[in-house]
Amino acid sequence: MGKVLTMPVPDPTTLSKMDAGLCDFYKRWRSDGDYLRCNSCKRAHLASYAGEKFVHSSACPAKETSEDYPWQVLIELLRPLFECKGHADE
Ligand SMILES: [Zn+2]
Repeated sequence: MGKVLTMPVPDPTTLSKMDAGLCDFYKRWRSDGDYLRCNSCKRAHLASYAGEKFVHSSACPAKETSEDYPWQVLIELLRPLFECKGHADE
């Protein structure tokens, strides 16, 4: 399905940091199709609204402590994979 990339592996320290960051991120968020969803209030943030601040429910216990722009944080966490050189079609 789709084009296959040969994915060079970033260095182990970078990978370990990325894995830890993703584990931490998913304590607060869940991927749900084109949404990221707050684990506490279950409100959803559509990918195409990634540039807009996420709004929790008024009673959400996570509203002061979780990310305002979760998609941007997720992209930043995955950055090491995008920065790898050597895709099969290059
Ligand atoms: Zn929330």
